[in-house]
Amino acid sequence: MDFKFTEQEEAFRHEIREFITKELPSGWRGGLVEDEYSDEVWPFTQAIVRKLAARGWLTLAWPKEHGGQGRSTIEQLIYQEETSYHGVPGTDMGVGGVSWVGPCLMLFGSEQQKREHLPRIAAGESFWCTGYSEPDAGSDLASVRCRAIASGDDYIISGQKVWTSAAHVAGWCWLAARTDPDASRHRGISLLLVDMKSKGITIRPLIDLIGVCAFNEVFFDEVRTPKTNLVGEENQGWSYIMAALNFERGWPGIRFAALAKRILEDLVVYAMETKHQGYSLAGESALRHKLAEMAIEIEAGRLIAYRAAWLQGKGLVSESEASMSKLFSSELFQRVTDLGMQILGAYGQLSSDSKWAPLKGWILRTYLYSPSVTLVSGTSEIMRNIIAMRGLGLPRG
Ligand SMILES: Cc1cc2nc3c(=O)[nH]c(=O)nc-3n(C[C@H](O)[C@H](O)[C@H](O)COP(=O)(O)OP(=O)(O)OC[C@H]3O[C@@H](n4cnc5c(N)ncnc54)[C@H](O)[C@@H]3O)c2cc1C
Repeated sequence: MDFKFTEQEEAFRHEIREFITKELPSGWRGGLVEDEYSDEVWPFTQAIVRKLAARGWLTLAWPKEHGGQGRSTIEQLIYQEETSYHGVPGTDMGVGGVSWVGPCLMLFGSEQQKREHLPRIAAGESFWCTGYSEPDAGSDLASVRCRAIASGDDYIISGQKVWTSAAHVAGWCWLAARTDPDASRHRGISLLLVDMKSKGITIRPLIDLIGVCAFNEVFFDEVRTPKTNLVGEENQGWSYIMAALNFERGWPGIRFAALAKRILEDLVVYAMETKHQGYSLAGESALRHKLAEMAIEIEAGRLIAYRAAWLQGKGLVSESEASMSKLFSSELFQRVTDLGMQILGAYGQLSSDSKWAPLKGWILRTYLYSPSVTLVSGTSEIMRNIIAMRGLGLPRG
């Protein structure tokens, strides 16, 4: 067993760090995906996306024939780790175009869909949102009720989606809709590509705990999309959604481990710098032990994520490994932000606009973001269910 990165991988990591130093303002803190499409950050996100695309990094692991670089899953993970640690916006992890819409179109899309969408996604010109969840369909996605009725050359879509990240800035939606209400729950669903500028779409922003609009309610009132925008076969959408979720669950493990590492390092600096009349916070043994424990957990989170990527590179990845990585690192992220709030004490509740806010209010921001991380891409309970069934072979509960 060899835990070292190759020279080429190390050189690539170095190249990404050089890009980051050049392109991000000094002292930049980011990486909370939700921030990236807030009104304040969105123009900067778009500018960075174009620069990432120009280097071919946006679609690093896509095959060359589809505009990617055909790089390894480990290099992809190095890219995700570095961009997450440094909070580079616009890497697309979390909303879909690059991470799951493109890969699914390569597998299931028509030639026309590939021609129309893949080059624009790879160039950073087309931004996507994902419409699965509804008020009564979250973990139990097979309860999707949003209807798509075939009519001439079109489908007519009516219904509601919720928690749709980035719908307010997206050009296209990757939409799950029910096309056969009489079929069994998993069979009557189709996947459609919907232009977000279509007549009949209303987007209502939802404000998250941080105070930004990251996700939305999206209402479809007899929205037409051409039948050529059906992905694969009608009523077979469930299997495409499962494939898309597998792609989606590949990213959060390393992302949350990297973000947790950055927070831990900030807390270490804070402890070292907090001194008063001979007292040093860094000398508190209870605190030192908690920081040390976090360091161990972060290393474990990284290793689980790299192992899943390595298996994927060998064509061996199972849903269980990706779920373990997502589950472990998202809960770890919550533990480290919680520890941060404990260490900062009452001052930790001050937001970034206060000059007294320690670490410029960053820990508070990550803490308020943290409840969402065990929900997005599937909740912790759903991850445990997958590990129990697919990893341990237990029967469905
Ligand atoms: C930041 C963020 C961004 C999101 N972005 C999007 C997006 O872009 N597009 C989109 O479609 N959705 C999005 N979602 C929605 C997300 O996919 C759902 O929140 C998630 O699937 C859970 O669904 P729910 O909220 O309806 O909770 P529910 O499914 O109602 O779950 C409620 C609770 O019950 C538990 N539970 C449910 N079923 C089981 C079970 N079988 N066994 C054990 N426990 C169970 C859950 O773990 C949870 O604790 C986003 C969510 C968040 C937080």
